[in-house]
Amino acid sequence: MKKEVRCKKCKQSIAVKSVAEDRVVLARELGKEFELICPACQTVFTYHVNDVKAKKSIVSLVFVIAVMLIVTFVVAYFVFKNFKVDKIFYFYYLLGLISIPAVIFSIHTKAETRRISRFNRYMK
Ligand SMILES: [Zn+2]
Repeated sequence: MKKEVRCKKCKQSIAVKSVAEDRVVLARELGKEFELICPACQTVFTYHVNDVKAKKSIVSLVFVIAVMLIVTFVVAYFVFKNFKVDKIFYFYYLLGLISIPAVIFSIHTKAETRRISRFNRYMK
């Protein structure tokens, strides 16, 4: 999850660096209103915490893909080393192996979506 505001002049997105999970925490961290400089047009504006929008972040996607690959390889290695996999079971074995990253990915996506919608609820 990444947080950003839109520049009031050029509409470019400006990253808000914070680990806050919701706007209440963000307000405690930065203040209800805070100043940010736009890296594109160098203009400083005051933003309200409700201007901050949470989005899916590429970084956490890359991270979850890395975790998926590692877990899949570890499981594949473990199974091949410890069990004699019969040729007729290869298909099921591969199917099982593919389901591991699929499950991790769907868990991650659900959790991320929940966090984003929680953050995007407006603060009164
Ligand atoms: Zn700008």
